[in-house]
Amino acid sequence: MRIDIFTIFPGMFDGPFGESIIRRAVERGLVTIQLHDIREHGTGRHRSVDDTPYGGGAGMVMAAPPIFASVEHVLGDHIRETEIILMSPSGERFTQAVAQQLSQLDRLALICGRYEGVDQRVRDHLVTRELSIGDYVLTGGELAAMVVVDATVRLVPGVIDSASLDEESHASGLLEYPHYTRPYEFRGWTVPEILLSGHHAEIAKWRHAQALALTRQRRPDMLPDEEPADNL
Ligand code: SAM
Repeated sequence: MRIDIFTIFPGMFDGPFGESIIRRAVERGLVTIQLHDIREHGTGRHRSVDDTPYGGGAGMVMAAPPIFASVEHVLGDHIRETEIILMSPSGERFTQAVAQQLSQLDRLALICGRYEGVDQRVRDHLVTRELSIGDYVLTGGELAAMVVVDATVRLVPGVIDSASLDEESHASGLLEYPHYTRPYEFRGWTVPEILLSGHHAEIAKWRHAQALALTRQRRPDMLPDEEPADNL
């Protein structure tokens, strides 16, 4: 998979992409991540990428020409086969299911907005999808793009052992069951005996029951077919 990220702050990505699973995925050649500074296509001596909004109002708007120029220059003939995503608080909600879809693609491009957002013509004529990471407003799309890349890259085949992905929260439709590791006793708190029993079928049953109970308690919206608790 190749991921191109368009931003005016490429340096922000050094930390998150330089560590752990993403770094290893890149080193192993499973994913290529390229950062592109939109400012290289900015206008004038200051390589400006923003301007005041038509119609007036507060703040600045990222102009269409530098974003189109940057994306077209980098993607070239691949532009039609690339999912070009604008990070946007008014976009479709980014979920595990969307991460799963994106992880199947060969090419992905992410555009990070700043200021009041981007000129509408970028949304109308360049991007193929808009994604929001939640109902709040960030100062820029960079953190949102990092979230999308992180959640997507770990699902690319070969990046993580697929067995550890199967039962994760949101993958199976349930929140994940509790985990324990050594020591057996910590400050008087012990590990549930069932986990020491060696009975794999019983352990699986216990874990499923725990996952179901946690989901019922915290995210009943994930169990739409269940009667609401107060109707039972
Ligand atoms: N004026 C915009 C609005 O009300 O929708 C908010 C602009 S925000 C300050 C600047 C940029 O941050 C956006 O263009 C977008 O790229 C990014 N951004 C902010 N919140 C986001 C979210 N929840 N999900 C994804 N991107 C977000």
